[in-house]
Amino acid sequence: MVSTKVCMKNGLELIRNIGFIAHIDAGKTTTTERVLFYAGKTYKIGEVDDGTTITDWMVQERERGITITSAATYCKWHDFNINIIDTPGHIDFTVEVERSLKVLDGAVVIFCGVGGVEPQSETVWRQADKYHVPRIAFVNKMDRQGADFFSVLNEMKAKLNMPLAAIQLPIYSESDEFVSIIDLVKNKTIRYEDDLGVKFSYCDIAPQHQDLAVKYRDELIERLAELDDALMNKVIEGKTISEEDIKSAIRKYVLLNRFVPVLCGSALKNKGIQALADAVCDYLPSPKDIGVVKGLSGKSHDHEEREMTPAAPFCALCFKIFTDSFVGKLYYTRIYSGKITTSSSIYNVTKRTKERITKILRMHANKQEIINEAKAGDIVCLVGLKDTMTGDTLCDERKPMILEEIKFPEPVVSVAIEPRTKADQERLVTALKKLEEEDPSFKVIYNRETGQNIISGMGQLHLEIVVDRLLREFNVQARIGKPQVAYKETISRKVEAVGKFVQQTGGHGQYGHVVLLMEPQEKGKGVSFENKIKGGIIPKEFIPSVKEGVFEAAESGMLGGYPVVDIKVTLIDGSYHEVDSSELSFKVAAEMAFKEGLRKGSSVLLEPVMDLEVVTPNEYLSQVIGDLNTRRANISLISERRHLQVIRAFVPLAEVFNYADILRNLTQGRASYTIEPSYYEKVPADLLAKILGV
Ligand code: GDP
Repeated sequence: MVSTKVCMKNGLELIRNIGFIAHIDAGKTTTTERVLFYAGKTYKIGEVDDGTTITDWMVQERERGITITSAATYCKWHDFNINIIDTPGHIDFTVEVERSLKVLDGAVVIFCGVGGVEPQSETVWRQADKYHVPRIAFVNKMDRQGADFFSVLNEMKAKLNMPLAAIQLPIYSESDEFVSIIDLVKNKTIRYEDDLGVKFSYCDIAPQHQDLAVKYRDELIERLAELDDALMNKVIEGKTISEEDIKSAIRKYVLLNRFVPVLCGSALKNKGIQALADAVCDYLPSPKDIGVVKGLSGKSHDHEEREMTPAAPFCALCFKIFTDSFVGKLYYTRIYSGKITTSSSIYNVTKRTKERITKILRMHANKQEIINEAKAGDIVCLVGLKDTMTGDTLCDERKPMILEEIKFPEPVVSVAIEPRTKADQERLVTALKKLEEEDPSFKVIYNRETGQNIISGMGQLHLEIVVDRLLREFNVQARIGKPQVAYKETISRKVEAVGKFVQQTGGHGQYGHVVLLMEPQEKGKGVSFENKIKGGIIPKEFIPSVKEGVFEAAESGMLGGYPVVDIKVTLIDGSYHEVDSSELSFKVAAEMAFKEGLRKGSSVLLEPVMDLEVVTPNEYLSQVIGDLNTRRANISLISERRHLQVIRAFVPLAEVFNYADILRNLTQGRASYTIEPSYYEKVPADLLAKILGV
């Protein structure tokens, strides 16, 4: 018996791939940093025992900064291997949040003990719901004046739509200082013995806190018993509920995404962090708990499931690319199944190319460790890949499987960008290309009509950060124009279009002739190209030029030069000339056919529509609604939240480009809002002329 159990263990149960998710300023960075600090301390125990060394280490860490903002950091917590995946807090980076949620197995959602459940907290919570991420909650900043754990807890119960209960309570001294934490699972108080929070012990709950502890421990047991019949029976029978009973019930229902335990602490004042890391190990899932990874067979495109074990064929997702000035490009990769070594040749099934790895790195808080092998459950950085981009699936060529694609919303704000000096021109293009490879929500298009580079992203802040990175990381000074709505063009019906480029002026002429079938396709699919030429009526060597012509023509459409999207292009017919046909003539013919197709297919302009939520005091409700009604908004919900009115609406971005100012004027700065791209929709005919300026 024992030996089977040992055989079944492969270390997977000791891995935690987690993220801290929160709205900006809740304390995500500080909490991550503290976990890494205590993990380092645990790791080095016996080596470093005086406080100053530890503090120095911490300061250096903070100065380096990059370690904690790295896309994934590895640390060891007791026997556990924790990978902390970075998730950005600003709404402009929703894509990045969603992408990281996809690769992590569990999350710690951080709330501010003063601010409570802010609109952004709800947004990240909803995102975690969408990806079914099991989570625990940490109410941070309990040391701050005005922090109120119980009010935050009530707010969470009211707003978050998930059974939850406190498993810890904050304890304050007589002078109102946050000094310790009651652990309701162990039924003990955590007593801190130094300011760094390194030394602490679990001791009995003081008599004056007993009533409070009993009340909340009972509530915790009650919530769990409502979910679990066995526990309920024990309660009814009046049996003692042990620490183990509570622990295993919490774990079970966290994994099922039916319960969230709420912890508290102060990252800044070094309280509650070790208990938080313990809770991560106790309650959040290991890759083994997740069990299988779902995808599509790389051959048949049928749905496929693969066990998340090292024994299964290799399959991994590249979720972030980062250019390191020393090592070159780091491909942050989550391995779902199988294993690889440095000598493995792997297959990028998304791009259908082979890739080689030159190095595998494990990213620690303060160093990069070269490792020889990585396996299911691990998050590592691969070095040496060439064609891989963010979101691509890497796998074993013999058993290809494409992981469910991460859906990236289309960028909605565009701006023209120019180098400050002529000398910067070339470097600007190279740098923008690199940034585009790293970030799928960022696009660069060269507008041939105006000769400008246009960059598009998820919001103005996103683009400002790009410009800032250009300067800091690539040393390119750039100037940007006025941000604009990123319109797009598509066709409204299926058409056949002919492009014929013939010039026969003696000598070597030009001859290219193509017939394209152009049909609308699913939103978000961009332009795709298929070749159905048979019998060599267009020689094989000219097909890539036809494709190139199509994609180049799609970069700027007929209506205002905006990019063309969501069209399936099939090359169905054409002809060639023995002497005059060339790559160029077919490329030009394809461009002509594509433009003709846009004309014949009654092309339309598409505009981004935003999902807007406004939270306003009652007295401004009618002004806000009245204003939204003048902005082509489709109001989907008006509800009340803690004496405030919440309005949800879908509204075209063009109408709310400067919504911060609009709302401030309407409500004297008393309302707040969140906005994120939702979908693209046809621009009404009467507005087309205005947008196009004709
Ligand atoms: P992030 O934006 O979520 O990564 O938040 P940070 O970790 O950068 O913290 C935002 C601000 O809150 C910083 O000024 C921190 O020093 C402060 N902060 C973080 N944790 C605490 C805490 O527990 N107590 C107090 N008083 N301040 C905190």
